Amino acid sequence: MNFYDGELMREAFLLRGYSETDDPKLADVILFHTCSVREHAEERVHGILGGLRAQKKENPNLVIGVVGCMADREGQALFEREPHVDIVCGSRHFPQLPSMVDQVLGGEERVLELGEAKAPVDSPIRDLTGRPSSWSAHVAVMRGCDLNCTYCIVPSVRGRVESRPLAEIVHEIQALVQSGVVEVQLLGQTIDSYGRDFPKEGRPSLAALLDQLADIPNLLRVKLITLHPAYVDQELADAMARSPQFHRFLPVPLQSGSNPVLRAMKRGYSLDQYRRKVDMLRNAMPDLELISDWIVGFPGETDADHVLSQEAMKEFQFLQSYVFQYSPRPGASSFELLDDVPMSVKKTRNHELLALQREISATRTPTMQGRTSRLMLEGVTKGDAGIWYGRIDNGHYAVLPAGINRKAGQFHEVKCVGYNGKSLTAKSLQLLGEPASPAPSMSLPIFGQSFS
Ligand code: SF4
Repeated sequence: MNFYDGELMREAFLLRGYSETDDPKLADVILFHTCSVREHAEERVHGILGGLRAQKKENPNLVIGVVGCMADREGQALFEREPHVDIVCGSRHFPQLPSMVDQVLGGEERVLELGEAKAPVDSPIRDLTGRPSSWSAHVAVMRGCDLNCTYCIVPSVRGRVESRPLAEIVHEIQALVQSGVVEVQLLGQTIDSYGRDFPKEGRPSLAALLDQLADIPNLLRVKLITLHPAYVDQELADAMARSPQFHRFLPVPLQSGSNPVLRAMKRGYSLDQYRRKVDMLRNAMPDLELISDWIVGFPGETDADHVLSQEAMKEFQFLQSYVFQYSPRPGASSFELLDDVPMSVKKTRNHELLALQREISATRTPTMQGRTSRLMLEGVTKGDAGIWYGRIDNGHYAVLPAGINRKAGQFHEVKCVGYNGKSLTAKSLQLLGEPASPAPSMSLPIFGQSFS
């Protein structure tokens, strides 16, 4: 979601005539798009901000802003710790950043925008200028979260769930597809809760959205990030199963294999309830692969709890895992708990879970040999000129030998003919689709003015 919000900010500035520079010394505006999930990330921002003091002294017209969750969390205190910062902009105000920069350039000493915003972050019709790739695009379908995991500050900084109207999302995706996009990644903190903030009668759902997207020609793949197990239901599982575009590689974070730890995290499910949701999904889509997040070293997590996480990882046979060492965050309710798992133990548990995940992935991918699937080309492998890589329909990486007119976003029917120790090796059976040339109506605006 942060990556996507960065795209939207970039768009807002490009449309105002700004251009980008890789060299901070040449910049007139420097914005830090921040994450508060881990303390380390915030400290890095403070470190880099400190390094800009001299530049600001030399060039008082330089505008420096801190945007996103860290701005929400630290607020006014950020100005006190970093007096050379001009803008502190919360995660629901960033579309107004160019105006905030204007305010600073117009003489306002400091601009602070936090909390609720008057207008939704996602505009009904998105300009495509800032999209980083011509064939794949992020699209937020909802923002915020109604849950209350004790380690998480997202609900407090991003607010409660706000879903976008279904027609607005479909319209945006149709426009993206016209401009050459063949893959969309639908985003939401708990994307499977999409629509639940609308009145019950006739409200939209993620299942209904998947059904409508199925009617968009040339939209070849739809990815979802990220689900919460509590919201998974049969209607959604069935819609995923019948969608011709749905990428069967799904993030359904478990976080821990221990019921006492899940309870302390207030995740809202037990291991057995999670198991039932996974069964529901896998019964509907036997080839589905899952991704999980894990937190190691949550307060009170014992060695026995850690073993339960290892057992759960084996049981559910995730294809991919992201493992995080618990970091107490002010504003999260677990901040009050004693952070009693030593750092060295967190590190060991982190390494152990990752090593186990590598083992599991290495056994799962070779089982795909001999299958026919569809491969979306993403790029060329490093070192092997002309060898393309991408993911097949259920998320396994596959490589495809060089061929005429290969390009990113091409969708091939492939046969998985081997395994090279890391990825499947595939043979193209036929080209199924590729990004269309941008339609004239979606051509990009002309950039007149450059400020850098
Ligand atoms: S589901 Fe839990 S971890 Fe995810 S955003 Fe909501 S509170 Fe945070």
